[in-house]
Amino acid sequence: MKTLSGVPVSSGIVSGKAFLHVESEFPEIVRYSLSENQIEAELKRLDRAIAESLEDLRAVHERALREMSKDLSDIFAAHIMMLEDPDFIDQLRTGIQETLQNAECVVSDIARGMMQKMMASPDPLFRERAVDINDISRRILTVLLGIKQISLAELDRDVIVVAHDLLPSEVLTMNKTHVKGFVMDGGGRTSHTAILARAFNIPAVLGLSIATKEIKNDDMLVVDGSAGQVTINPDQQELNAYKKAGTQYRKKQDEFLAIRDLPAETTDGCRVALKANIEIPEEAEQVLRYGAEGIGLYRSEFLFLTPGQAAEEEMQYQAYCQVLKALGGLPVTIRTMDIGGDKILPDFQVTSDERNPLLGWRAIRFSLALPELFKTQLRAILRSSVHGNVRIMFPLISGIEELEQARVLLDEARAECRAKAQPFADNIEVGVMIEVPSAAMTADILAKSSDFFSIGTNDLIQYSLAVDRGNERVNYLAQPCHPAVLRFIKTTIDAAHQKGIKAAMCGELAGDSSMTALLLGLGLDEFSMTAQSIPQVKGIVRAVSMKDCQKLAEEVMKGTSWKQNAALVSAWMAKNFPAE
Ligand code: PEP
Ligand code: MG
Repeated sequence: MKTLSGVPVSSGIVSGKAFLHVESEFPEIVRYSLSENQIEAELKRLDRAIAESLEDLRAVHERALREMSKDLSDIFAAHIMMLEDPDFIDQLRTGIQETLQNAECVVSDIARGMMQKMMASPDPLFRERAVDINDISRRILTVLLGIKQISLAELDRDVIVVAHDLLPSEVLTMNKTHVKGFVMDGGGRTSHTAILARAFNIPAVLGLSIATKEIKNDDMLVVDGSAGQVTINPDQQELNAYKKAGTQYRKKQDEFLAIRDLPAETTDGCRVALKANIEIPEEAEQVLRYGAEGIGLYRSEFLFLTPGQAAEEEMQYQAYCQVLKALGGLPVTIRTMDIGGDKILPDFQVTSDERNPLLGWRAIRFSLALPELFKTQLRAILRSSVHGNVRIMFPLISGIEELEQARVLLDEARAECRAKAQPFADNIEVGVMIEVPSAAMTADILAKSSDFFSIGTNDLIQYSLAVDRGNERVNYLAQPCHPAVLRFIKTTIDAAHQKGIKAAMCGELAGDSSMTALLLGLGLDEFSMTAQSIPQVKGIVRAVSMKDCQKLAEEVMKGTSWKQNAALVSAWMAKNFPAE
């Protein structure tokens, strides 16, 4: 028995036999010369292979249009365009005529040459296209060589797919009835496979690096997509425990989804809002499935993390419109770019050579230092506001000066839009993320210039307890029940209410259902989290009374250590939710 740890990208627990989906190795391409009178037949062979590849691709594209977001289906549209490109086809045909060599060799040589040129380009967009050339040339070669690819579409038994990486087309066309889980060497939370896994509700752990080395076909696996763990060949006892946990998880999910359209209201009638966090626009459509009442945190910096995509106003505008339209009038909180720290940008001067990047040039500091870049984002958000209900939120505010400066630039961005006759909503709410202790301690001051607060507990815990959130060695210290953290949270909520504005939370803590009762008792108005966690949190909200939660919060606020506080909360939960 062995356990691997990776990135949890799609929750749920599942056990089953491993199916290794490693790219089938191409047999060596045999190079042979053609005589003049064989050329015509070889050209026909090439044409047939291209036609067959196109037919396959069109079928995948049509399916993608029905089942995937536009961005993902566009990948296949681009492949079709390349395969229909007369210049490309001409190059292949001329290659056969001039070299007098077989079609396989010509396709492979020309594709390799094109890829090498693209990879050497300084333009990242051009470099990315090399992947597409690889994809389409492999398609043509598969047909020419008569290779029967191992297809996930043909699966006839329940399996857990183990792969180095998967193409979106493979995930789309797989037999979803039989794929019970995904385990991958590559990928992260925002990879296409992760998004599709969440969309299809298949538990998945990605970014494992060594999964395809450690796991063999038919190994028994347990995938815990919530904890990010994969157990290889567990013993019977372990397996039974996992199966039970998996069944309970599915039963609970069904129960929770049944309450999707019911309000997040306590038994004594106190209503809170449950919203979703997203990283990329494609996720927006899915959050409604889980009953999200809006988007409480759109981490807009992910738009900037792909090389070459950076600061285009139009590109940003389109992305924000896509999210707003998907949410159809529900509120969408766009957090302005939180660049720097651990989010290093390929196209900007942010580098990892700062001594303390997490205390360095990051988030609002970065935006204020590059006002033109910042205003480009603000204009894109402003312009998108006519397509839905948008709110703007500034990250890592440490004091009122930064908030005031950001507001000045927002006013300038408004003036620039007006000068170009670009319409925008005039009542856009502007909020502050409370994730630095100084912001929490001056929340009463910040509240005067804010329409809402959102507590970013990931950073608030990191900065208040001096615990690098990415350092596993000190992770044990990152305790949300530490009295200091709880006091910061309470101070922030109280300051918001004093001023008559709402206090939200969008750090991971908001989606931790074992903490929901305590947060309700502290007075939190809005919880924003991974969409998949919403049903579970709603289940807790609907089962408790605000009166009891407040009593719990009062008790916990008297506590002197995180251990004592955490024990109090878990005892309360065990008493009120014996099966949790
Ligand atoms: C947070 O810090 O809690 C937060 C939500 O922001 P991020 O995780 O993007 O830093
Ligand atoms: Mg943060």
